[in-house]
Amino acid sequence: MCGIIGYVGKSSPKEILIEGLKSLEYRGYDSAGVALKNDKEVQIIKSVGKISNLEEKMNKESLIDSNLGIAHTRWATHGKPTEENAHPHQIGNITLVHNGIIENADELRKQLMVEGIIFNSDTDTEVAAALINKYYESNPIEAINKAIKEINGSYALGVLFKDSDKLYTTRKDSPLIVGIGEEENFIASDIAAIINYTNKYILLEEGEIAEITKDSITVTKNNKEIKKEILTTNMEADAKDKCGYDHYMLKEIMEEPIVLEKTFKPYLDNLNLLPDLTKYEEIHIVACGSAMYAGLIGSSLLEEYANTKVDVEVASEYRYKNVIYNRKTLVILISQSGETADTIAAMRKAKENNIDTLAIVNVKTSTIARESDQQIFIEAGPEIAVATTKAYILQAGILSLLAYKTAKDKKLVNDDKVVEEAKMLPRLLKEVLDRREDYLKIAKEIYNKEDMFFIGRKIDYAISMEGSLKLKEVSYIHSEAYQAGELKHGTISLIEEGLPVFAIITDEAIKDKTISNIEEVKSRGAKTIVVSNEEYEEQTLQITVPKISPFFQSILIVPTLQLIAYEVAKLRNCDIDKPKNLAKSVTVE
Ligand code: GLU
Repeated sequence: MCGIIGYVGKSSPKEILIEGLKSLEYRGYDSAGVALKNDKEVQIIKSVGKISNLEEKMNKESLIDSNLGIAHTRWATHGKPTEENAHPHQIGNITLVHNGIIENADELRKQLMVEGIIFNSDTDTEVAAALINKYYESNPIEAINKAIKEINGSYALGVLFKDSDKLYTTRKDSPLIVGIGEEENFIASDIAAIINYTNKYILLEEGEIAEITKDSITVTKNNKEIKKEILTTNMEADAKDKCGYDHYMLKEIMEEPIVLEKTFKPYLDNLNLLPDLTKYEEIHIVACGSAMYAGLIGSSLLEEYANTKVDVEVASEYRYKNVIYNRKTLVILISQSGETADTIAAMRKAKENNIDTLAIVNVKTSTIARESDQQIFIEAGPEIAVATTKAYILQAGILSLLAYKTAKDKKLVNDDKVVEEAKMLPRLLKEVLDRREDYLKIAKEIYNKEDMFFIGRKIDYAISMEGSLKLKEVSYIHSEAYQAGELKHGTISLIEEGLPVFAIITDEAIKDKTISNIEEVKSRGAKTIVVSNEEYEEQTLQITVPKISPFFQSILIVPTLQLIAYEVAKLRNCDIDKPKNLAKSVTVE
């Protein structure tokens, strides 16, 4: 959520900071700002809205000569998205940018106001600047150290001190890396922001403070120097290009067959590389948004075929509710970034209760990857579009494999054809994705509607929820997913002439039931679109994908709904890769 980039080095930072902010745009933001510093002054420029507004403003002003700077995109949590509230914030000797939420900001602000501090914004961030300033005499590290001991909540900070030519940073529960260049060093929320300059970086743990010059990075914790491991990413700079596609969302959907093949390969060669779930009496799958809906695909298959008790929980609820752990339980956490604040909290809760945790994540260096007991990494590569597509497919795919392995381990299935079908999946998926004309045709039929429904039963209901969410996220059309049989218990009153209803039918055992539900809404005027693995004669609008083992059927169906959502959003001229109000990795509560 929001982004930070900082630079100290041989070059002038303007381009590096602006380009860095643009690479972090996908995380969502509402305003942006930059601070440049030399030994005489600190120049701050901020603006509301797009980074191009900030760039325009910077082009108009005469910028100071500088080799040190910090920049920020803000996703407002405290105070409106105005210029005053945009970062950097400055109090006394301190100029800083912050990502996260300071939970005790009100209390600290009151105290600091009594001490005579005047605040200029509504943000929680300014409190951090005031506190560091309060403790600053001549030693920046000591001042940061004292300040962070008083701050509760999450933060990644980039800090400049008036009489220092160094860059300082620290973090807790918000992502931030220190990038290592040649005669230049960086801080950034994400390696994507600096990948054009370096692929080497270090990760800071809670309480660690980095002091950075162009040739050195010194990390201390409680004033003791810490030796840090230098990590290398293999993310290539061109992973950030759209490769000729109009949008990252489309590019990322089209990458699904490749990343699926890469993610599945080791497990299809040896299923035993996947964890053994048979030793647990129940499983909690905990996640947010689409990752949670991927969890529902997993739970559906684990219950149906592996006779395993699974509860799927929204992380923001799970972290606060009274979870009754009275069985041998495994908690599976799913998060693309591995930095989702609520999912991190859910993981820590499970650990405090001595419950085993298994993470399904994309980012190998993330907090969830590091703190969980076991990990399965999906190989999605960078996902730039805010609405997830390929990462969801891999999360659902891995859970499907895990369900199959568990069923096999329990001797409930004995069908080696399933592995063969899993090997065919990338090719079949590619065929499904290549039929873009079909999805555009459906999109043209429905894009000017303002309400829609997605219905299905059992796993088809889990699929419906992701289809509905994707459409809402990118096209801003109101949509609801319903269990097909539940619609008539109230919500059917909303069905009217021409209202689109997507019906998902893949589950053999109950397909006739869903077909009856289609008839119910049709007879009330709905325009139905059947998405299935077989053709239905009397249906006019339909999408048919190849029939495959039920373990993997959702992997062929969901991408069709992703592409329909994409085409609808495009016809409605929406900001597809950066839908309004949304952020990519939700690192605040
Ligand atoms: N809580 C801070 C604010 O509202 C920072 C938000 C962010 O992470 O962008 O300004």
